[in-house]
Amino acid sequence: MKKEINQITKEWNRANPDKLHINPEEFNELLTRRFFVIPSFEIYGGVAGLYDYGPPACAIKANILDLWRRHFVNEENMLEVDCSSLTPETVFVASGHVQRFADWMVKDVVTNDCFRADKLVGEFIDTELEENSELTQEKTEEYALVKKKIDDYDGKGLDELIQKYGIKSPTTGNELSASYPFNLMFSTPIGPTGKLKGYLRPETAQGIFVNFKRLLEYNGKQMPFASAQIGQAFRNEISPRSGLLRVREFTLAEIEHFLNPDVDEHPKLDTISSIRVPFFSRENQTQGLNPVDLTIAEAMEKGWLTNKTHAYYIARVKLFMDECGVLPTAIRFRQHLANEMAHYARDCWDCELLTSYGWIEVVGIANRSCFDLENHSKYSKNELVAYESFETPTVEEFVAVEPVKQKIGKILKGDVEPVMTYLNSLTDQERLDLQKQLDETGKISFRVESIDKTIELTKDLIAFPKREKKILGRNYTPGVIEPSFGIGRIIYCLLEHSYWVRPKQEHEKEEDKIQRAVLSLPPAIAPYKVALLPIKADQDQIVKKLQQSLARYGISHRVDAGNQNIGKKYARADDIGIPFAITIDDNSVTAGTVTIRERDSCEQVIVPISDLITVLNDLIDRIKLWEDIKQAYPEQKQTASDKVGKKQVK
Ligand code: AMP
Repeated sequence: MKKEINQITKEWNRANPDKLHINPEEFNELLTRRFFVIPSFEIYGGVAGLYDYGPPACAIKANILDLWRRHFVNEENMLEVDCSSLTPETVFVASGHVQRFADWMVKDVVTNDCFRADKLVGEFIDTELEENSELTQEKTEEYALVKKKIDDYDGKGLDELIQKYGIKSPTTGNELSASYPFNLMFSTPIGPTGKLKGYLRPETAQGIFVNFKRLLEYNGKQMPFASAQIGQAFRNEISPRSGLLRVREFTLAEIEHFLNPDVDEHPKLDTISSIRVPFFSRENQTQGLNPVDLTIAEAMEKGWLTNKTHAYYIARVKLFMDECGVLPTAIRFRQHLANEMAHYARDCWDCELLTSYGWIEVVGIANRSCFDLENHSKYSKNELVAYESFETPTVEEFVAVEPVKQKIGKILKGDVEPVMTYLNSLTDQERLDLQKQLDETGKISFRVESIDKTIELTKDLIAFPKREKKILGRNYTPGVIEPSFGIGRIIYCLLEHSYWVRPKQEHEKEEDKIQRAVLSLPPAIAPYKVALLPIKADQDQIVKKLQQSLARYGISHRVDAGNQNIGKKYARADDIGIPFAITIDDNSVTAGTVTIRERDSCEQVIVPISDLITVLNDLIDRIKLWEDIKQAYPEQKQTASDKVGKKQVK
């Protein structure tokens, strides 16, 4: 069935590559009805771009983060930290966010309503392509190209497009202002005096950078290494209109992998070089070509991936997304266009997922070069560097400053230190010039600004001879590869990818009102692994016992003991994505058995209660597949009310 689904989805996505086909009203109704996500402060009318997660979304989030920690933090031995969200301004001056973390904004010249310029142009093009039946082939191609390159336009370019296409305010039809940069950080004073200016962090990364010295120390001064952080990020998005995808507060899970920028290697590259990834390179985008499936090794050969650690993380992100259960045909890795890159990035690939809103970035995988550590070193006056020992030490010639200590002290008295500081600050060539002067005239004279004096020294007091020193290593500023995961976006995309609706069954009557939505989430991600469904009211004891063992083995579950028919109970488990339902019936008491029903196929098997935990754990951990369990246990024939329709593809 999975194969069939993948095939049909593949064909659908090929034919409709710009959007995932779901019914948005029904899907959103499910999200609200089952309290996945609702607008924050709903009873006060809500605030755009702020959302609260209800119980199933919270459980899904916890599962994704658990998987993330296992896949990245544990497997790669990362150092996890948890840093402050409130950040003093100086940190974001150093990181460049105060100056450059901005989007291009236009205003309705009459109402002052604000819009993101690139989104307006994109939406205008979408409407034209969908609704204007008189578009010429040439115009259609132009629109498609502009849309593909939309992230590449700066303010001037966007203004030109707005003028050319006659784009007006979408709410009033009024003229729009020229575009100007709007900083996306929320500012806030820290402390009661209001003197310390601060911001809510727009990314968690800076917390890791400012702790670099301690992290390196903690890691036994060993490079390379990676640090990770999960936490809230805040961005004052201009027009957060794509529902849950562009919000003003969200959870980021970020990795900062520190490396020597002059050493391009990754010890585990060979473990991922044959992983296939759909790459949408800069080259392909600007030429209007489609993404192509290549192995990591092939993409490196083509020169699309220029850093081995960057390549390694792209593969690891792909594997993580596969484990989360994204549709295999609705994922691609898109390289940033030159203008699109953040101010700190040298190269960036976004993992994008296809949704009903189009392709959405869920993970940004950037090569941040040495930008952050260099700037924090400069602004904080703390050297954020690592040390590299040379395999074979080198010998370097230098010009020494060698005073005759007993004599010079008597002459210079309290000025010894500033004079030596001055002489030590000179270049080798300047010191050689002084030696030449000493040789020719027997003395030197120079001005020391820090003490505002001209100093004269004779050749019996000082010399500047050529010497050699052994260089055992050097300090360097590490480069950074950063995969940055938007957890909320991943959750939303997984919900869309796993959502489908069962076909209506013949026996179903309208008044049954069975909800037929299903979320085919993988067991690892599903909010609860098991639904416990007692058929009769007097099965309390057995339910309690089962609950105890499920809890003891860490298998999350929901009990549905209501008196609805079993079909409705199954439906209530299906639409929050519970993969396995355990039905407790008369046989549970008489024969010590229960039935396990698999969500997507609706197939059921009869299992002795004594085997239940092992069977469930095997299924959840994917040690065994449903097919294996079906082979091992007798099938339970379905009654009419069990039959609510097998898996059908969106
Ligand atoms: P960026 O630093 O802009 O590359 O963002 C890193 C990740 O954060 C992106 O890949 C998104 O998944 C997520 N993200 C960025 N902005 C938002 C937003 N406004 N709402 C939700 N997620 C976001």
